[in-house]
Amino acid sequence: MEVGFIGLGAIGHPIAKRLAEQHRLTVWNRTVERAQAFADETGATVAASPKEVGTGAEVVLACLPNSPEVEAVLAGTNGDGLAEGLEPGALVIDLTSGIPSSSKRIAEDLAAKQVAYLDAPVSGGTSGAAAGTLTVMVGGSDEAFARALPILQVFGKRIEHVGPVGAGHALKAVHNSLIALHLFGLGEALTTLAKAGVTPRKALDVINASNGKSFVSERLIPERVLTREWPRTFRLALLDKDVGIARDLMADVGVEAPVLGLVSKLLHEAALTLGDEADHVEVLRIHERRAGVELSG
Ligand code: NDP
Repeated sequence: MEVGFIGLGAIGHPIAKRLAEQHRLTVWNRTVERAQAFADETGATVAASPKEVGTGAEVVLACLPNSPEVEAVLAGTNGDGLAEGLEPGALVIDLTSGIPSSSKRIAEDLAAKQVAYLDAPVSGGTSGAAAGTLTVMVGGSDEAFARALPILQVFGKRIEHVGPVGAGHALKAVHNSLIALHLFGLGEALTTLAKAGVTPRKALDVINASNGKSFVSERLIPERVLTREWPRTFRLALLDKDVGIARDLMADVGVEAPVLGLVSKLLHEAALTLGDEADHVEVLRIHERRAGVELSG
């Protein structure tokens, strides 16, 4: 298939790399050097503009920080936007973890050009993208979902059609707010236990053999914090954005969310303290500093 891809960031890059192995891929990235390096690596074609990605493409995937960036790339400047190039019958798959109300607006605008749209955010991290084992949560019509499935299967293992346009973004934001909740809960739990004489390794061994465990306790903290490796795979700024989307969604639908409200506030403060490039797991550094302990071992 003629496939376009926009946004070769931390997770976009490994997804696009898998697509390049099976389809004719044309890419565009804001920083053109990244697109060129990707093309040198994979044989993909570099487009001069988002419009050029759309021209002749059957499917275009976007993987950008948030929905405003997707809307800006669709609109472009001086007629070079993706929407300008898309032809009737094309399909846009938005892998961005974005905003449900924005995705509904985008879908309506594209429908006027007879272009289909799915919100299809992913979970499973950069390693899951490279391995083709991502979870994909899709919002949109049955017909568009059926068309997208062979493309999503190139990088996804569990692919769920979760509802109409916007449903994928809603689920992704709420899911990521649970990760944030676990990061804060475990930061408090493990620093408390360290000061009470239980080593972080011993505490996690017991928690992970019991019912309080989570992905954060089983994988993220043992592999990244206890080892002091702190790899940067998913920026804290992006998790902050996701939790903000979940908080706004809860307000929109009229659900009171005091716990998430507090997590959102703390996470935003952490993002400001740790900076734009910090990884989401580095939230634990704040707990370490505050308690005066190191969660290693
Ligand atoms: P990165 O910050 O690594 O990459 C962002 C990408 O978007 C880059 O290609 C960047 O281009 C491009 N970009 C940023 N701003 C603009 C703009 N204004 N106009 C055009 N392009 C722009 O993010 P990730 O790849 O980590 O994340 C992408 C999406 O996937 C986010 O929604 C994130 O929440 C989600 N996600 C990320 C996961 C992860 O593990 N990293 C896991 C699951 C979901 P440039 O090269 O020029 O900076």
